[in-house]
Amino acid sequence: MNMLFERKLAIPMEVKEMYPLTGEMSRHKDEQTAALQAVLDGRSDRFALIIGPCSADREDSVMEYVNRLRELAERVKDRLLIVPRVYTNKPRTTGDGYKGMLHQPNPQEKPDMFKGIIAIRELHMRVLRETGMAPADEMLYPENTKYLDDLLGYVAVGARSVEDQQHRLTASGIDVPVGLKNPTSGDFQVMLNAVQAAQHPHTFIFRGWEAHSQGNPYAHVILRGSTNKHGQSQPNYHYEDLMLLYDFYQERELQNPAAIVDVNHANSGKRYIEQIRIAKEVMHSRRYSEHIRSLVKGLMIESYLEDGCQKIGGGVYGQSITDPCLGWEKTERLVLELADSL
Ligand code: PEP
Ligand code: MN
Repeated sequence: MNMLFERKLAIPMEVKEMYPLTGEMSRHKDEQTAALQAVLDGRSDRFALIIGPCSADREDSVMEYVNRLRELAERVKDRLLIVPRVYTNKPRTTGDGYKGMLHQPNPQEKPDMFKGIIAIRELHMRVLRETGMAPADEMLYPENTKYLDDLLGYVAVGARSVEDQQHRLTASGIDVPVGLKNPTSGDFQVMLNAVQAAQHPHTFIFRGWEAHSQGNPYAHVILRGSTNKHGQSQPNYHYEDLMLLYDFYQERELQNPAAIVDVNHANSGKRYIEQIRIAKEVMHSRRYSEHIRSLVKGLMIESYLEDGCQKIGGGVYGQSITDPCLGWEKTERLVLELADSL
């Protein structure tokens, strides 16, 4: 192979021994998981928000963000279940550029995978310990899942990964809700095939083991819009899209039919400010149709301390270095309005 194997990295068990959870942290994670399961299967009528920066690029500003979010979550907890988005693995459209804290704990320095593994575990642990909220992250590299599986409260499979067998099979062995995004091409059947795969048990090779997964009954879809052959964004959050998804779900025997609408990415065309309007439109569709109300269980929102985005090294504390995000002031107002609109 034309590849240099530089050093053997610590395995997940060793990293967990170095950085163990306390009983209280596990309890918070279990409580949040149970609450989110109740939202997804309809036992609770709370609405879920998976919200936070596109990428968790630095510990200080992410911790400030999640601490503000915790206070806000407390104010709306009778109506909203808030899960912080702490994304440490970033897929890149061409493979180039910042790949997230896992690769670059400091975005301005060269990749260091050992430091990266420790940095993402420490960050997720801080979030869980200081806020009691179990974070969401993207499963970009299935073989890394066990570095974080004891502390994540939500796992997403991204648009570029959702057709991949190893992602689908690994999702079937995860014990918290997993959201599977529509692929960048937008095909709903591909996305539902991924949910079906993730809900069923499988036997496969995982980190050198013959492994048996149990199936994840809380695997569900995330709508994030798509891109057509001209490179134009095609939203899929409108009333008609949600009704179509409802009908497609009826045609399959899937457990706990549920959808989260990602209001950024190809739904907003990455015009972050549109997230406000899109979120409100989805809430309107839920009020208009019982079917949509029963299907759409939450939103995914890209939000950080400051509006918009900057280049790496731009120096603005709390502003995204990947997709443009809604700043804190607008986020707070939106969350309170969403809670009031339920
Ligand atoms: C993201 O959530 O930041 C992301 C990269 O999503 P997607 O897989 O939908 O592009
Ligand atoms: Mn993003």
